[in-house]
Amino acid sequence: MTYFLYGEKGNLLFIDVRDKKMPTVVFDFDSTLISCESLEKILEKKLDDQPDKTDKIRRITEEGIRGKIPFSESLAQRLKIAAPSRQDAIEFGKEAYRWLTKGIEELILSLRAQGVDIWVVSGGIQESLVPLGKKLQLPEGHIQGVKLLWDEEGKFLGIDDADPFSRSKLEGVRKLAKNWSAPKIVVGDSMSDYLLYQEGIVEHFILFTQHFRCQEVLDKGAQEAQNISQLEQIIQGILKNHANR
Ligand SMILES: [Mg+2]
Repeated sequence: MTYFLYGEKGNLLFIDVRDKKMPTVVFDFDSTLISCESLEKILEKKLDDQPDKTDKIRRITEEGIRGKIPFSESLAQRLKIAAPSRQDAIEFGKEAYRWLTKGIEELILSLRAQGVDIWVVSGGIQESLVPLGKKLQLPEGHIQGVKLLWDEEGKFLGIDDADPFSRSKLEGVRKLAKNWSAPKIVVGDSMSDYLLYQEGIVEHFILFTQHFRCQEVLDKGAQEAQNISQLEQIIQGILKNHANR
């Protein structure tokens, strides 16, 4: 239903379109919204003098991106090598803006101006995502990542088995997506992003390869954007097709 509010002289003051359906664009965080892998950066800082462990973390991260091991396994393995504190995640969050993909802020702002509902969903730690999301003017509820368990001092206690994002992005997004409006478009660089499309949770998937080109997802026939201008073109094409239907 649409609500109109008229002034005394019959002039239109306000239109409230409560049931207007907004298209949904969902951005992955690591190697999409930013140019690096947040957990890798957070843990690297703790392993300054242990390059072998840093290499191992990188290898595990990449195996997860390529879909060679499940996300839950890749998360658990990395946190076993080095555990971050809540403060470490917050510190990364404060600095994340410097890793922001060039041009993506403008793209998000212009999509928002078109009435697109923007979300960020990630396998990164929630506290490391929120500051950048807020800087991009997204409501906090639209930024969803892994919620780890901390003690009162912010020391890492473990992975919360009740948190669907700790298990997989698919499980995390399944519930959220029920409230999203079509067309639902996911932009990401990894197999876990592609699975949202493969499993029918969203109608469109764009593989963003500016920072990481995942051959395993390309082999699935995914549509690719190599940079922000290609990404913008593809998104606008989908929105236009949908509006003309
Ligand atoms: Mg990613």
